[in-house]
Amino acid sequence: MATHIDAHLHLACDGDIGLQLLAGLDLKLLNISVPQPDREKWRARTDVFRTLARQHPNHFAWVAGFDLPTWDADGNLENGYVDRCIAEVDAELAAGAVGVKIWKNVGMEVLKPSGEYLMVDDPLYDPIYEFLAAKGTTLLLHIGEPRSCWLPLDNPEDPHYGYYSQNPQWHMYGRQDMPSHQAIIDARDRMVAGHPQLRVVGAHLASLEYDVDAVAQRLDEFPNFAVDTSARLLDLALQEPAKVRAFVERYRDRILFGTDLVDDTPWSTLATDTVATKGPATQNRIATELAWYGQDGPMQFRDRTISGLGLGSDTLPDLLGRNAERWYPGL
Ligand SMILES: [Zn+2]
Repeated sequence: MATHIDAHLHLACDGDIGLQLLAGLDLKLLNISVPQPDREKWRARTDVFRTLARQHPNHFAWVAGFDLPTWDADGNLENGYVDRCIAEVDAELAAGAVGVKIWKNVGMEVLKPSGEYLMVDDPLYDPIYEFLAAKGTTLLLHIGEPRSCWLPLDNPEDPHYGYYSQNPQWHMYGRQDMPSHQAIIDARDRMVAGHPQLRVVGAHLASLEYDVDAVAQRLDEFPNFAVDTSARLLDLALQEPAKVRAFVERYRDRILFGTDLVDDTPWSTLATDTVATKGPATQNRIATELAWYGQDGPMQFRDRTISGLGLGSDTLPDLLGRNAERWYPGL
């Protein structure tokens, strides 16, 4: 088993250069499906991740998805939706998937016939959650967005400034028609509380990246809940280091390392010189993120100088690998 596991990304780095990169970092990847309204498109990506896991089981695993619901003109849920999702998830688990993902479009994009946004605690999902709990399958929830999604876009130092500048459709400041950050988090919390037998991982520090105390509150409240750090390294780096260190040490079996790198066209299908450029850049990015947790003192991350977290060797193996194995059995 690899020493390091990136428990949340979308990276199809097969081929010689990609596999050497993974061997060099002693790294296994957990690729995550992202269910979207375009059913063919998201399935095609899942096909890539499933194939990689089949071909290179030491280096790749995947988390499956299931379709978003639709309703007909009379407001009826599509015929057989829940049974079809359960059958599809069951087939994915039989093929080796180690979890199932729900994405932020639940809570922020999918509208019910009533005109309300579909929330993750909607009773329509209950049979699916019960099925996953009975199977012992982990549910990965990317619900909501960073809190700055609901704040004015006026601080270029904010770690999420770039994303919302480039993806204004997801920027919620001033959107009275949309659920608030709190409403989305509350629905997620009710769902986790309402399914205590279901193992749930909250992606991106459970969208509570602004304060580790807010994450800790949920970890205390919900024993069936863990979080991944994917795409939130800077949010951690901007908080008081001693406080973040104490948080990781206290919840040492509940926090999973992840990067959220997105590069999902198989490298084995790309031109050699393209991969020759990608390889070192990707290796450097993941190595830097892995190193940050143990680094003492300043280091370069993207375009910033940040202070390493300085965790000790008693915490790092759990955070960077073992916790992913615990929270995604079969990984
Ligand atoms: Zn992701």
